[in-house]
Amino acid sequence: MLESNSRQSVKVAYLWDGVGSTLLENVTLISEQGIITEVTSNRVDDAVDLGNAVIIPPLVNVHVHLEFSHLKQPLSPALPFTKWIGKTMADRRANPDVQHSIDSGIAESANAGVVMLGEIVTHSPVNYVTKKTEPSLLLFRELIGLTPAAVNEQKEVVTSFLKQFQNQHSLGLSPHAPYTVRPELLEQCVQWACEYKLPVTMHLAETRAELEMMNSGTGKIVEMLQKLDLWDSQMIEPGTKPLDYLRILSQAPLAILAHGNYLDDEEIEFLASEPQMSIAYCPRTHAFFQHDKHRWREMSEAGVNVAIGTDGRGSNPDLDLWKEVQFLGKSSRPRDAEQILRMATVNGWQACGKPVRIEVGQRACWTVIRHREISTKRFSGWSDLIGQQTYVETVNHAGLWGK
Ligand SMILES: [Zn+2]
Repeated sequence: MLESNSRQSVKVAYLWDGVGSTLLENVTLISEQGIITEVTSNRVDDAVDLGNAVIIPPLVNVHVHLEFSHLKQPLSPALPFTKWIGKTMADRRANPDVQHSIDSGIAESANAGVVMLGEIVTHSPVNYVTKKTEPSLLLFRELIGLTPAAVNEQKEVVTSFLKQFQNQHSLGLSPHAPYTVRPELLEQCVQWACEYKLPVTMHLAETRAELEMMNSGTGKIVEMLQKLDLWDSQMIEPGTKPLDYLRILSQAPLAILAHGNYLDDEEIEFLASEPQMSIAYCPRTHAFFQHDKHRWREMSEAGVNVAIGTDGRGSNPDLDLWKEVQFLGKSSRPRDAEQILRMATVNGWQACGKPVRIEVGQRACWTVIRHREISTKRFSGWSDLIGQQTYVETVNHAGLWGK
């Protein structure tokens, strides 16, 4: 990696700038002091030749829980979901060294070439310290409150979180999910988000049981909360839908909805009309829980900004975003490849409120993708690029802010 104050010049067989729909061929990228100054097909003598590789905008993981990064395999069984939730709570209580989990999750993400992480923060006394070549962090403080007393405690949680991490990382708030957050807390949270200009993220429409809880106050999630003595039958009005939550969340400056597995047509249409709202689709976690087919294609076609997350190692074998891309590519049509690549890169940046492209004037941060059969293989198109034989070779961090 070159120092950010130096001139850098690389040439590569292919480049996708994150804007158009073509892979540009035989391109040279020049940057100075961490800013891209030229993207050209002209010959540049001192350019470092990357050969038969592809440069793409940097990868973003918009939804992760680093606290589970010590897990060697996902918590099982995945179903019923309420049991799995119980396992995550037990693991959280039993983890003797959360700091180690966080640190190893950051290191793992850096190794996978991820440049930005949307992390859900659940523990107060942990630190988030990143090296120059590790991802930038958008830290969302998780807020949970089902009882009025718990709701009251969240103000202090938010205040100390903002104080601890201000000027260190990008910050946001995460009202956890409809089954752990009283509607008053959600309203309050969105007010804080507006006041402090923070993004929010919330798990929404993740399971059918959650929809049933909202709609009729029955089902597996309600039973789980009753066992914990946390269910308040007056808390949610009968007939409530994810759309009601989306309407509230749309007031925040920026909102990422984790999963959105069971959103209906009206809700997708609503999201499409709110460009500050995005979906964090976690393909392998989605498969782990055997949900109905995710509607990411319809969402994308409707104009919803869909990005990709790994979720935590509690439901995923690793935090490798490129593997999410390849996993999704394998079960998709070849013509979806370009959209999948957008979801893992520019859409993720948009979701985090940081539009990133590979263009003159932008920061000199990009990812190099290579094929395992380098000497023989030429990329014939988008689906080739996200195929099983490709891998993230390097990330150029030279111009990344805060680094
Ligand atoms: Zn999650």
